[in-house]
Amino acid sequence: ALFVLGSFVAACSATVERLPRAGESLQAQAFLIEPGGKGLNLAVGARRLGATIDGLFAIGDDALSALAEPALVRAGLSPSMLRRLPGPTGAGIGFTDAAGENCLAVHPGANTRLGPAQVREAAAAIAGAALVLAQFETGDAAVAEAFGIARAAGTRTLLNPSPFRMPAPAILRNSGILVVNAVEAASFAAALGLAVPEAAAAQLEPVARALHARGPDLVVVTLGAGGAVAVPAGGPALVQPALPVAAVDTMGAGDAFTAGLAVALAEARPLPEALRIAAACGACVVRERGVFDALPDRAALAAMLRG
Ligand code: ADP
Repeated sequence: ALFVLGSFVAACSATVERLPRAGESLQAQAFLIEPGGKGLNLAVGARRLGATIDGLFAIGDDALSALAEPALVRAGLSPSMLRRLPGPTGAGIGFTDAAGENCLAVHPGANTRLGPAQVREAAAAIAGAALVLAQFETGDAAVAEAFGIARAAGTRTLLNPSPFRMPAPAILRNSGILVVNAVEAASFAAALGLAVPEAAAAQLEPVARALHARGPDLVVVTLGAGGAVAVPAGGPALVQPALPVAAVDTMGAGDAFTAGLAVALAEARPLPEALRIAAACGACVVRERGVFDALPDRAALAAMLRG
């Protein structure tokens, strides 16, 4: 099984002709509220590809928390993974323009109140997982605890440090696979005192190699329509072009990519094949509005890979 450490976010998004400016009110063409959050997207994405999923998802005690259980059930995930904590549920608000460009802000809410105690209760599932996935809508204490348990058990881990903050050294040390987008790679470069790269494979490699020295043995940088670069420790960088699709809404592309990568690597597929699967999952999500329903199953993935 893959163990997914949160998060759950009620994701609201408005479709607009162009992104609003400061002080401006725009009429939206469409409005969508869907169950989301990076953790849920990873879990649903991996489940649709056939993986068995275990995990922990924190929700609050407000009206938005009611979105979670039906969403998990609809995706074939067990609601026993939900933990109800006092206070607000994680919530996000985003805009997508006519070109598919987006901006968003997420309030993590209950996701940051998930603590080491709840994680410890799931220690056996974490230790027995094929891969443990975490992202940064979940708080540091929970991620550190989960990755510590995984490391002690020899379980592989994957971290997507988004929204970006510099990972605590102990979290980075226990991260086996690190998946970042171009903005996060630049944030790492700045935090490590390296030249901030343009989104080009050759310039990203030194950043990835500097990260290897701090823990991860595989660093993958996603570059939107520019594809992705994977840098394994002690091996040459691999470049994966994006699959050619008309982008409607790029929201969730990174989560879909990461879910595909996680499932493929947990199935012990070779890295080049895992990257192609990941890129196809990303492409499936960008050609449709929304994320939850756009995450591909095996049939949609196969059709995308055939072109
Ligand atoms: P994030 O959503 O985290 O910012 P990216 O935008 O880098 O992540 O996208 C993740 C992956 O999704 C890319 O590496 C690529 O494979 C795929 N992808 C993103 N945008 C497009 C696009 N316009 N066309 C095709 N594939 C895309």
